[in-house]
Amino acid sequence: MSDFLLELSKNPNARNVIKSLGLPIPMPQALARARGPWEERPLANQKVVVGVSSGAQLAGVIAETLAKAGADPLLAGPGHDEALWQAPGEAYGRPATTLPDPAPERLIAHGVVMDATGLSTPSDLGALHDLFHPLVGRISRSGRAIVLARPHLASGDPARAATQRALEGFVRALAKEIGRRGATAHVIYVDEGAEARLPALLRYLLSNRSAFLSGQPWHLTASAAKGGGTDVEVPITRPLEKKVALVTGAARGIGAATARLLAAEGAHVVCLDRPEDDGPVSQVARELGGSVLLQDVSAPDAGAKIAAALREAHGGVDVVVHNAGVTRDRTLAKMKRDKWDMTLDINLGAVLAIDEALLADGALRDGGRIICLSSVAGIAGNMGQTNYAASKAGIIGYVEALAPTVAARGITVNAIAPGFIETRLTDAIPAVIREVGRRLSNLGQGGLPRDIGDLVTFLASPGAQGLTGRTLRACGGAFIGA
Ligand code: NAD
Repeated sequence: MSDFLLELSKNPNARNVIKSLGLPIPMPQALARARGPWEERPLANQKVVVGVSSGAQLAGVIAETLAKAGADPLLAGPGHDEALWQAPGEAYGRPATTLPDPAPERLIAHGVVMDATGLSTPSDLGALHDLFHPLVGRISRSGRAIVLARPHLASGDPARAATQRALEGFVRALAKEIGRRGATAHVIYVDEGAEARLPALLRYLLSNRSAFLSGQPWHLTASAAKGGGTDVEVPITRPLEKKVALVTGAARGIGAATARLLAAEGAHVVCLDRPEDDGPVSQVARELGGSVLLQDVSAPDAGAKIAAALREAHGGVDVVVHNAGVTRDRTLAKMKRDKWDMTLDINLGAVLAIDEALLADGALRDGGRIICLSSVAGIAGNMGQTNYAASKAGIIGYVEALAPTVAARGITVNAIAPGFIETRLTDAIPAVIREVGRRLSNLGQGGLPRDIGDLVTFLASPGAQGLTGRTLRACGGAFIGA
């Protein structure tokens, strides 16, 4: 179902009329989204302002990442080590320039990135104000604000812990302030030893493939072993070439969009859905040159059958996307046991059973990826969804526990918690609740299936080796939940 207000807001005349009449109608900003496959230079000719704290540790990585992605870096404030910027600037023809103080009136920047790793005491946090206060109004529509940090407990120093943890609160609040412009904000906590895993995530979050993600912390670790090749030399285009990906529930909605995006990056996609969905799932598989697997994921022998099919046809699998899911909503007082069981079996039990089978016989290859669909309902709970919320919260616990057990093989395990995504699942919500659900995000709109597919594709790529055991929200910064 289309979002009427979003459509209306794309018409500049309608926008102006509503604004000039002062009508209390929210006008969400249409989000800039990528078209086509991953590009060499997703930030070509985009201005990105960079600030550093004193003692900053990641400026060299930022310099390399921005130059390689085609951005024009503008260095703001004190403390820059210009030597760090020289070689990448020359290698990629993107020399950094110094941003005058005050910044030129007409400056509009795609992004502002701050290396805040050197901030160690509460008074140091003034550096956030120094950088962002003059620039916050200069961040473009669908722009980005990104803060780089160190895990707050890493140093054992309470003052430094408070200071680094403060960055998360700052970013969550900033995301709300800039969200109506379609702009987003993130903090990335980088473990010591995981610095080489930062470029891929930074590039992704600055690109318009992360349009519906906002206001959350990301944690990069070195815990999962390298999945082949060096960390820094991960492929930038066609990152899934020669990979085999299984997507469950691929007939429609998020699963179909995900299958298309994985295939666009080179993966052979095995599209799985229930036997009664043969028609739509075969259509998706045909369209992207993939194959079909008809299987109810909650059948007792599903894991063994899926593992055998993947081994036989492809020798194994590299990426497993547990997307198949159902809702059977009722208040607990009215919920029948069969609806409870069905939801838990499909959304949670089947995920564990399939992974167990794939891991037991080695069908999931080294350097592989397990990506599960959780939900914001699993983080925050939702009226009438005790069964669904339990299943989706169970996924969060599962990825945390499984990730360390497969890290030595370079396999990463993560979950995505979508907020309100425009699919038949949300079309089925009563109109008024649906309208409220859409607006309850920093971006004032629902996401599209491809927003989840873009995040799955990033997590599936070799560059995402630093993310494991995490549940990542894809909710436009929903106002509910932690
Ligand atoms: P959808 O109903 O459009 O698609 C789900 C797919 O899963 C369907 O093709 C269905 O046939 C398949 N499926 C269901 N039971 C199955 C089974 N037993 N075996 C095999 N396939 C089965 O749903 P969607 O909105 O695209 O959601 C996809 C996932 O994202 C689900 O796990 C859902 O819980 C999660 N999610 C969606 C939203 C949202 O706003 N749409 C929000 C949070 C989480």
